[in-house]
Amino acid sequence: MTAAQMTAASTANPITTVGILGGGQLARMLALAGAPLGLRFLVLDAAADACAAQYAPLVRADYHDFTAMAGFAARIDVATFDFENVPADSARWLAARKPVFPNPRALAVAQDRLAEKSLFRELGIAVPAFADVDSRAALDAAIAKIGTPCILKTRRLGYDGKGQFRLRTAADADAAWSTLGAQAMTVGLILEAFVPFQRELSVIAVRGRDGEFRAWPVTENWHDHGILSASLAPAVVDAVIIEKAVAHARAVAEALDYVGVFALELFLVDGELLANEMAPRVHNSGHWTIEGAETSQFENHLRAVLGLPLGSTRMVGHACMLNWIGALPDANAVLCDPCGHWHDYGKSPREGRKVGHATLRADDAESLTQALQRVAHALGREQQVAAPIHALQDSRTGS
Ligand code: AMP
Repeated sequence: MTAAQMTAASTANPITTVGILGGGQLARMLALAGAPLGLRFLVLDAAADACAAQYAPLVRADYHDFTAMAGFAARIDVATFDFENVPADSARWLAARKPVFPNPRALAVAQDRLAEKSLFRELGIAVPAFADVDSRAALDAAIAKIGTPCILKTRRLGYDGKGQFRLRTAADADAAWSTLGAQAMTVGLILEAFVPFQRELSVIAVRGRDGEFRAWPVTENWHDHGILSASLAPAVVDAVIIEKAVAHARAVAEALDYVGVFALELFLVDGELLANEMAPRVHNSGHWTIEGAETSQFENHLRAVLGLPLGSTRMVGHACMLNWIGALPDANAVLCDPCGHWHDYGKSPREGRKVGHATLRADDAESLTQALQRVAHALGREQQVAAPIHALQDSRTGS
């Protein structure tokens, strides 16, 4: 342990209170991970039913309510985020009063697809072709430059595939503009080349206050209608690609002087990595680390923001996470499986809402495949596990 870590560690006593901006399932899982560390939490969220409030006291307020923010700041030792779209000015306001990790500049860059892609490019990390779009004429110019197919996205506030319009040909420009054009002057727009990727990967990594960097094994992800459906770790990908993906994540973290956990999302196309985006927080594709790694992303995020020594990111076996979107399936199918771990976020069902997940963890790829088959069969969800099982077969055949 370095001297700086020892000084910081000595402050991590049972009365350390971590403030979390945003009170969703990520804040809830942070609070659960913080309990063994003796931490207290305070969550700020405008929603009365914020699910983290089932485990941590809630300040119910908007991020621009500076009276409530002052009360929040007075009750915490350090602040972090469950939600990356906290307004950058609110994050800066808080950072003037209490330590805030990740720092507001990192948050601001990660909030803006144009800023983050520009940073990736500056760092020598390949990205899909992109162009800023601030008018209808600029959209035509961007289509002419990038070609089709392509995707028009909001620069800010998009998530889970929302705020996106796919253009198959230039003839789709009118439809794209009538769907998203009004947002050109509010959150901004960016046009990106559509990438015919073979795999979607994410690097979940953590950087400490002292600059120590660690990454978990790279994860492969599958989406359904833009929402994460399944994650498999370790990804079945060539070691050279893994090394490059982790090097990219390290370069981004160092450039932003990042502290905490983050995710770097990458497309793998014809053996090349293209960076899609980063999430400046713990990430859905890292939920498997709760049972599948020596230290979870949630615990290591807390260790990082508190200046404590980081825990090992070593995997414990093979893991596959299945997201529950809209409503929970029958818990018993997972609970009665020897590899099953059930997570219910305590949310009411709603279409498109992440309400829980399951992680199946096993000692080897063969056992994980069998567990996925058992659980999917019991739930009638064979389709959700088909791609991860296919990838696991690749790992067994060494392809
Ligand atoms: P995003 O919000 O940018 O993460 O997009 C949600 C999902 O849409 C991604 O995980 C991909 O599956 C898909 N997607 C986003 N951008 C592209 C792209 N440029 N080319 C192909 N697919 C994309």
